[in-house]
Amino acid sequence: MANLHRLLQDEQDTVALGRKMADAVKHFDQGFVAYLNGDLGAGKTTMTRGFVQGMGHEGHVKSPTYTLVEPYDLGQWQVYHFDLYRLADPEELEFMGIRDYFSENSCCFIEWPEKGEGILANADVTINIAYEDTKRSVEIIAQTTRGENLVDYLKR
Ligand code: ADP
Ligand code: MG
Repeated sequence: MANLHRLLQDEQDTVALGRKMADAVKHFDQGFVAYLNGDLGAGKTTMTRGFVQGMGHEGHVKSPTYTLVEPYDLGQWQVYHFDLYRLADPEELEFMGIRDYFSENSCCFIEWPEKGEGILANADVTINIAYEDTKRSVEIIAQTTRGENLVDYLKR
């Protein structure tokens, strides 16, 4: 399966990569599910912000630390930004009606996906972000054909 490895020099680089993922969604007319891994402050929310803005959202992008999910209704697309850091029990996701969030017209960015293991939809891409001195390194690994399309697009 395809993967991409890149050094992100600064916050702008991280935002730009998120934006390019939004371009890919419009190019293929296909949503995807991304699992975001990385320590606190790695840049998971920053990358998601680039994506959400690239999909056409103009306001603030806040971290859904207490609400678990922040929905964005963007024309034909629904974007869901999850932060499961504070999720105590994966069953809570069932009560939220989690399955409805994963559809043909949705894009899901999920921080701390391991907290929802067994209940979340499978990832099309896994995104690993790590501290590299003051910069970040990112690895994007395709897990499905849809994920491969995305990774190939990001390499262009
Ligand atoms: P997370 O959601 O992973 O906890 P955030 O995105 O909330 O992390 O915060 C990341 C922090 O790191 C922000 O302060 C942002 O400005 C900074 N940052 C993001 N990308 C980079 C980068 N490529 N290089 C250096 N700093 C970055
Ligand atoms: Mg975050």
